[in-house]
Amino acid sequence: MTFADLNLCAQLEKAVASAGYTTPTPIQEQSIPVVMSGRDIFGCAQTGTGKTAAFALPILNRLNAEGPSRGGPRVLILAPTRELAIQINESFGTYGRGMRIRSVVLLGGVSIRPQIDQIRRGVDVVIATPGRLLDVIEHRALRLDHVHTFVLDEADRMLDMGFMPSIKQVVKLIPAERQTLFFSATLPPEIRSLAHTILTNPVHVAVTPEQPTTTMVDQRLYFVEKNHKRGLLAHLLREHLEGSVLVFTRTKRGADRVCKDLETVGVKVAAIHGDKSQMARQRALADFKNGRMRVLVATDIAARGIDISQLPTVVNYDIPDSPETYVHRIGRTARAGNSGVALTLATPEDRGQLRDIEKLIKMRIPAVRDHPFEG
Ligand code: AMP
Repeated sequence: MTFADLNLCAQLEKAVASAGYTTPTPIQEQSIPVVMSGRDIFGCAQTGTGKTAAFALPILNRLNAEGPSRGGPRVLILAPTRELAIQINESFGTYGRGMRIRSVVLLGGVSIRPQIDQIRRGVDVVIATPGRLLDVIEHRALRLDHVHTFVLDEADRMLDMGFMPSIKQVVKLIPAERQTLFFSATLPPEIRSLAHTILTNPVHVAVTPEQPTTTMVDQRLYFVEKNHKRGLLAHLLREHLEGSVLVFTRTKRGADRVCKDLETVGVKVAAIHGDKSQMARQRALADFKNGRMRVLVATDIAARGIDISQLPTVVNYDIPDSPETYVHRIGRTARAGNSGVALTLATPEDRGQLRDIEKLIKMRIPAVRDHPFEG
């Protein structure tokens, strides 16, 4: 299938071509025709599969066909993290270039006034984290009664982050007559039941999360004692890894510690986690993307939705707290057809969790023997 087969308007076809996309990804192939037909979607797909374009392209197609509107926003997109919301907004900007479609991103942690001013000037697409959206509504700065398309992205993360009550509140404020696009990387029971209450006769769309991990990512395991982890990481960065490296830690303190350790051995490194200000996080991400910082150390929540194409390597400095998180983490590399490397440092205590991971991904992660820090 080519993008031409999807019947998107000429402007979008051009935008996709200038973004360098030649063929739609599986999630785009499956979702775009469904969204264009007006049906709801229940999509199981993780970040890195091309999911943003899978909903952004048909939404832009519709807004463009409808022409300018003076009413309130017609599209509402909820995302769990600031980083993801910003990236979705950037995608709308990239694909919708020249289309005169106005989007606004509403995030906590920054002043609400400029966001309200932007809404007052008129907006078609609102991209928001749930808490700030409700704040803005409480300020009577935004009404949602013209919303015809509602997107819930990374619903499972929303659940993890405690956003479920906010989502339910938001759903009450948008018209019942609407199109809803629901995406989640995993489908625990709470997610299925939420989907059931907010979707109408949805089309199920799935791309298997195992696919990028087992086929595209070169996974390796390093057994190491806890107190040798930092030495091993420095050694890997010096001797074995090329290019940008995203390092995951379990805790914010852990992220800061790894960051300090690497700084002392001369690595250009930044950390992002929930205790950093929005400004600091954005700066760190920008420095990492443009190569000024070689290593970014992140906690799972902070790293959600980070869109870095061409990220060659992910290092699990701490074993992830669930097998699904492992899949999420290593999905940050090998995106959209690139191949990647994912290294996991495992202490003897991590063996149980490793087994669970290997069960989920249905393969053994090959262990690297004879490294200088073997534990
Ligand atoms: P997402 O899953 O939306 O975060 O997208 C993952 C990455 O894939 C982003 O960097 C997109 O720019 C890129 N991408 C999306 N669709 C395509 C496509 N059809 N061909 C190549 N790259 C794509």
